[in-house]
Amino acid sequence: MRKFHKRQFDIITIFPEMIVPYSDASILGRAQKKGLIKIFAHNLRDWTTDKHHKVDDTPYGGGAGMLMKVEPFDKAVKSLKGRKGLKGMKTRVILTSASGNLFTQKDARRLSKYDQLIFLCGRYEGVDNRVEEHIVDESFSIGNYVLTGGELPALIMIDAIARMVPGVLGSKESLESESHDEEGLLEYPQYTKPEIYKKWKVPSVLLSGDHKKIEEWKKKNPR
Ligand code: SAM
Repeated sequence: MRKFHKRQFDIITIFPEMIVPYSDASILGRAQKKGLIKIFAHNLRDWTTDKHHKVDDTPYGGGAGMLMKVEPFDKAVKSLKGRKGLKGMKTRVILTSASGNLFTQKDARRLSKYDQLIFLCGRYEGVDNRVEEHIVDESFSIGNYVLTGGELPALIMIDAIARMVPGVLGSKESLESESHDEEGLLEYPQYTKPEIYKKWKVPSVLLSGDHKKIEEWKKKNPR
């Protein structure tokens, strides 16, 4: 039986090999080792029954390209939701979609409270609309452009959500000063050593040690 982790992310994709290099590195990798989160990449083809493991078909009514079929996604979600150790846990099923709601920092914070998040990655011309109508809880776009697949959007959302999970960020990272607070306000410009590089100087107020002046400068200088 798979050990239950505090937050579990399940990504359903036809390219699971795309996920692991990112999810096992850096902060996400460290958080997985600490047992704070776990990210699983599942091959959608494992939930097909035909010998060619077909996951796509032509659209009804005509049109270019292929659509991903509803059945493998339905079976995958049912099987992952029902996993031992996760019964009774709070789960949310999320479709990556170019026409979904724009994913925001608020969504990242809200979704970080769930025990299990299941992400569905589209490919080709997209996904049979019954997936959105009957299987998922929410559909998210990561921006107003069209990508070749849902793998990067899933990873981007997981990255933003996982860093909201207590303990995931270490001493070198912090939730205290964020580029986007919940109102969408922008942070101030930041600098590190050296004080002068070529002829480019750090604003002198930041070197003054006068905390009141520094705070005023930060407020007056949004990025
Ligand atoms: N024909 C679809 C449309 O216009 O919405 C585009 C399909 S796209 C080529 C294939 C898959 O990539 C989508 O099903 C979705 O999973 C993912 N995708 C593409 N752009 C995305 C975006 N901006 N945000 C989230 N997912 C996206």
